[in-house]
Amino acid sequence: MTALVDVTGRLRKMPAEPGNPVSYTIRVGDTRVPLNEMIGYPLQFDFDGVIRCINCDRKTNKSFSQGFCYPCFRKLAACDSCIMSPEKCHYHEGTCREPEWGETHCMIEHVVYLANSSGLKVGITRGSQVPTRWIDQGAVDAIPMVRVTTRQLAGFVEVVCKKHVADRTNWRAMLKGDIPELDLVAERRRILDLVADDLSALRATHGESAIRAVDEQSLALGYPVQVWPRTIKTHNLDKLPTAEGVLQGIKGQYLILDTGVINIRKYTGYEVRFRVYSNN
Ligand SMILES: [Zn+2]
Repeated sequence: MTALVDVTGRLRKMPAEPGNPVSYTIRVGDTRVPLNEMIGYPLQFDFDGVIRCINCDRKTNKSFSQGFCYPCFRKLAACDSCIMSPEKCHYHEGTCREPEWGETHCMIEHVVYLANSSGLKVGITRGSQVPTRWIDQGAVDAIPMVRVTTRQLAGFVEVVCKKHVADRTNWRAMLKGDIPELDLVAERRRILDLVADDLSALRATHGESAIRAVDEQSLALGYPVQVWPRTIKTHNLDKLPTAEGVLQGIKGQYLILDTGVINIRKYTGYEVRFRVYSNN
């Protein structure tokens, strides 16, 4: 078989452009391969066993926090536990691992949103990460709910919303497609009603203008998927270094192959040989 693409390098999270469908590119080292047009083609990943930290380039036996070596995982603010639990932000205590990073990534406006990825969920992101964050989660629809002044405050709002709505995506359900539609404008109204007292309390502490309700519209997202998987099998490059199959679709950070799905983000920092073969 002729290889149309044959590149070797370190994998990164797939960049995606919103649209209908979303347009994906895979990054292998310095090469970027547009992927939508590869649907229907056989792909192959070969992992050579080397993982290099995406921060310092050091070889690491294991990837921490999706692409970092252990020393970076211990050192970088981006790998601190407050990134997973933003309500635990400790910048104000003067203990941020990298205060300058915190200023540009945490002490800025954040959006608390509702998304329909595998059903209704709440999430938070920096303003600049809309709609990238939604695409990475495979949301078919998403809507901003409130805009807040810091990441921690977004975490506080998310915590009170979690009493009423999930904060996780069921990725297996997400990859099966066929996600029931939701009226996100109505859901936003319903959730804001349920958390009205909690938001008043947060505003009393953090300032009236610190949490701003928005009337922004929802964004519908379509994904380039030709065939939805009926059962979800996953490729695991740590266990089996070769993953091959015909590309049937792309959703979130997953490639859907006829042999199983592969979460590209999980293999950030892995050095792979990536091939696309002609389909005739
Ligand atoms: Zn490192």
